[in-house]
Amino acid sequence: MNASVLLRRTTLRAARPVPVSRTIVGSQFSRLASTLALFEQRDGKLQSSAQNVVTAAKQLGNPVIGFVAGKSAKEVAEQAAKIEGVDKVVYVANEAYEKGMPESYAPLVVENTDDVTHIVSMHSAFGKNVMPRLAALLDTQQISDIISVESPDTFVRPIYAGNAIATVQSTDAKKVITIRGTAFSNAPSGSGAAEVIEGKDSKHAGNVEWVGEDLTLSDRPDLDTASKVVSGGRGLKDKENFEKIMMPLADAMGAAIGASRAAVDSGFADNSLQVGQTGKVVAPELYLSVGISGAIQHLAGMKDSKVIAAINKDPDAPIFQVADVGLVADLFKAVPELTEKLKK
Ligand SMILES: Cc1cc2nc3c(=O)[nH]c(=O)nc-3n(C[C@H](O)[C@H](O)[C@H](O)COP(=O)(O)OP(=O)(O)OC[C@H]3O[C@@H](n4cnc5c(N)ncnc54)[C@H](O)[C@@H]3O)c2cc1C
Repeated sequence: MNASVLLRRTTLRAARPVPVSRTIVGSQFSRLASTLALFEQRDGKLQSSAQNVVTAAKQLGNPVIGFVAGKSAKEVAEQAAKIEGVDKVVYVANEAYEKGMPESYAPLVVENTDDVTHIVSMHSAFGKNVMPRLAALLDTQQISDIISVESPDTFVRPIYAGNAIATVQSTDAKKVITIRGTAFSNAPSGSGAAEVIEGKDSKHAGNVEWVGEDLTLSDRPDLDTASKVVSGGRGLKDKENFEKIMMPLADAMGAAIGASRAAVDSGFADNSLQVGQTGKVVAPELYLSVGISGAIQHLAGMKDSKVIAAINKDPDAPIFQVADVGLVADLFKAVPELTEKLKK
């Protein structure tokens, strides 16, 4: 592809500053224009991320239509209808879409996007799976992991592991957007009363088969939504120490457990616990890092936490540059002491 073709095909560009009068939204859209908000469900239960998606979708100015598919999609749609700000919920009750596999889910969404100008989902495993395929089917360029909506065509997103913030503008007719959940508050749920209607379903097969899943089940809070997170790194040395030191600390604090990539790659902790650029992005009230150096790729996943505390034996560890509270100590001594004190 030569340069001129490339230029013509590129629809995302750095945006000029948006005048304040243009930041609020809606009037330039037709009466029928709407935003489709993709909601996630597991075993017939609406995931709380739907509330973050609604907050972002509302800021685009058009009516918000929720969308959910899966075995018990009608029940999930009824739960979603209670979220304030949702105008309508479309559901497709078909077990084939239960696992949200992009090969079948993306064409199903396309089938239900009449009059839709924006399609929004969480920047979760589901969103990262489904949205690129959806964008390709719509021949549009995805706008990923946004942290704010400036106007219906202009968005802010972190780049280079959060070291730079880009404002991007899209000229695509249908915009496919994933949002960073920690940047959008939970829309209140309970008082909404949106209409629930059945969507279209041409029974997309997608040539893939769901074989199974290997889930790590835990009674601890969920890492994505926990208000407190304790996270362990390579300083813990092995899996046995990770479990012996971090689990009692997490239980004493009522916290979720996270891990650095080095800890995950070394087999100390499950992949689903990785925090950072290539893991989860969290923003709890309290993030306590233990034996983590504070590489930029790790900071990309936790630097928006309200209070950051760090235990590291190296006083020059970069984590101390972002920590509100730091303890220079040997974790093998300091953490069991802290755990005992917390238990009391
Ligand atoms: C493209 C890319 C993506 C990446 N994505 C991620 C990501 O999503 N998440 C992520 O975490 N990393 C990610 N990384 C890796 C990242 O660069 C670092 O290598 C990683 O975060 C280091 O993990 P760590 O801090 O546990 O280990 P180390 O950097 O080895 O740090 C261990 C720390 O433990 C301290 N320590 C050792 N012993 C003790 C003790 N007894 N008491 C107290 N402190 C002790 C040491 O002083 C040190 O600071 C990515 C890298 C790349 C290139």
